[in-house]
Amino acid sequence: MKFCPECGAFCTADNAKRCYVCPKCGWEEPLEENRAISRKTSEEDKIIVIGKKERELSTMPKTKALCEKCGNNEAYWWMVQTRGIDESMTQFYRCTKCGHTWRDYS
Ligand SMILES: [Zn+2]
Ligand SMILES: [Zn+2]
Repeated sequence: MKFCPECGAFCTADNAKRCYVCPKCGWEEPLEENRAISRKTSEEDKIIVIGKKERELSTMPKTKALCEKCGNNEAYWWMVQTRGIDESMTQFYRCTKCGHTWRDYS
């Protein structure tokens, strides 16, 4: 549900254009951004923040994961929400020893 901020008319979601379209005045807003705002839960926010602050390694959780570069079996991990096609969460790992970074495809 979305109402036009310009004229207050009920806006329909245009899936082809991937945006909300106001039938009265032609106002448009991308669906993607809208969903990101409406899906705001504190948990998801935290995860996204971790992804953005990936340089601050000391604050990141560690887990057991095998680094294919150096054989170390401990890595920092964080989640990043992939914007676009499916908005799925992607898990990333970074080796605590050599800094090799990879993503979990499972
Ligand atoms: Zn309008
Ligand atoms: Zn490594």
